[in-house]
Amino acid sequence: MKVLVTGGAGFIGSAVCRLLANAPGWTVTAVDALTYAGNLASLAPVMDRIAFIQADVADPAAMADAFAQARPDAVMHLAAETHVDRSIDGPLDFVRSNITGTAVLLEAARKACGGNPDFRFLQVSTDEVYGSLGEDGLFREDSPIDPRSPYSASKAAGDHLARAWNHTYGLPTLVSNCGNNYGPCQLPEKLIPLTILNALEGLPLPVYGDGGNVRDWLHVEDHARALVAILTRGRVGETYNVGARSERTNIDIVRQVCDLVDRFAGQQNRRELITFVADRPGHDRRYAIDPTKLETELAWRPVESFETGLEKTVRWYLDNPAWWEPLRAQGHGRARLGLAAAG
Ligand code: NAD
Repeated sequence: MKVLVTGGAGFIGSAVCRLLANAPGWTVTAVDALTYAGNLASLAPVMDRIAFIQADVADPAAMADAFAQARPDAVMHLAAETHVDRSIDGPLDFVRSNITGTAVLLEAARKACGGNPDFRFLQVSTDEVYGSLGEDGLFREDSPIDPRSPYSASKAAGDHLARAWNHTYGLPTLVSNCGNNYGPCQLPEKLIPLTILNALEGLPLPVYGDGGNVRDWLHVEDHARALVAILTRGRVGETYNVGARSERTNIDIVRQVCDLVDRFAGQQNRRELITFVADRPGHDRRYAIDPTKLETELAWRPVESFETGLEKTVRWYLDNPAWWEPLRAQGHGRARLGLAAAG
């Protein structure tokens, strides 16, 4: 299968490219604008086995060229502005990349591949489109769409567009909504890598509010495997929630990371670096996913538990300073106190 992976130089897109480049029968073309979040170093292990096109998904001519060059049987659409804090500071970039970009890509797909019933377009999205939960309950595929931040609203709009292109034009689209990912090659502005690197460097570990916000965490390689299952075996027009039933509060995660860094890099009681900061505006309290549909229809199961995945992730950052040192030198994720990380 020839697949176009947008956002291929990002955190999850690069994990998808690394997975597929090592799997038989796949021809991968990664498309990425290389914004501040794109990093070719994340594709370095497979760069000799994939094609790479630097292009903006919101540019119709560039997307027509990308389709002409790659002649894909499938698109996995991950390119997006993704950091909630940045969406609060500057929402219009999110509207452009996540809404206009998705519409432009769907149009390019319709024009290039619309008549092919075997073509697939997977819109990769977030559980944040469902809004916030109380103490109990889970997001199901039929939960109301109720986004709260400019980021989640722009992703929800992209999901609606993907469904509309299926209903209106018959383009074979699918949508996936996943919880918070963690793992190798995640930019150090996000909670887990920020905490690992600040803990290593003895810097404050910012935690929003009371630290009680709950997220449902999934290792990025388990997400990549789920996306391949949905793309190849999912039912056209359907939505699949992706999660590992792994709810954790932010403060629990930060404490767990402190303990792992203490264990691997020398005991220093890094929990003392935890610093509570003013809460993010409109901070959703709890996200939790019901992945029953993915489990029963597509027999997907996560490989990593949160504990094994987090341990591997901390080790990866400790073993790979060449990946993150240049990013830290540019100021990424250096204790943005007052505007701190939260997934
Ligand atoms: P990321 O920020 O690490 O990567 C996004 C990539 O998209 C970057 O390489 C960037 O250069 C590229 N990009 C941004 N705007 C672009 C544009 N206009 N044209 C072309 N490329 C552009 O993000 P991520 O964490 O890898 O997320 C990937 C996708 O998965 C996103 O759509 C996101 O909404 C979704 N998602 C992420 C998570 C998570 O926890 N990280 C969870 C669920 C869903």
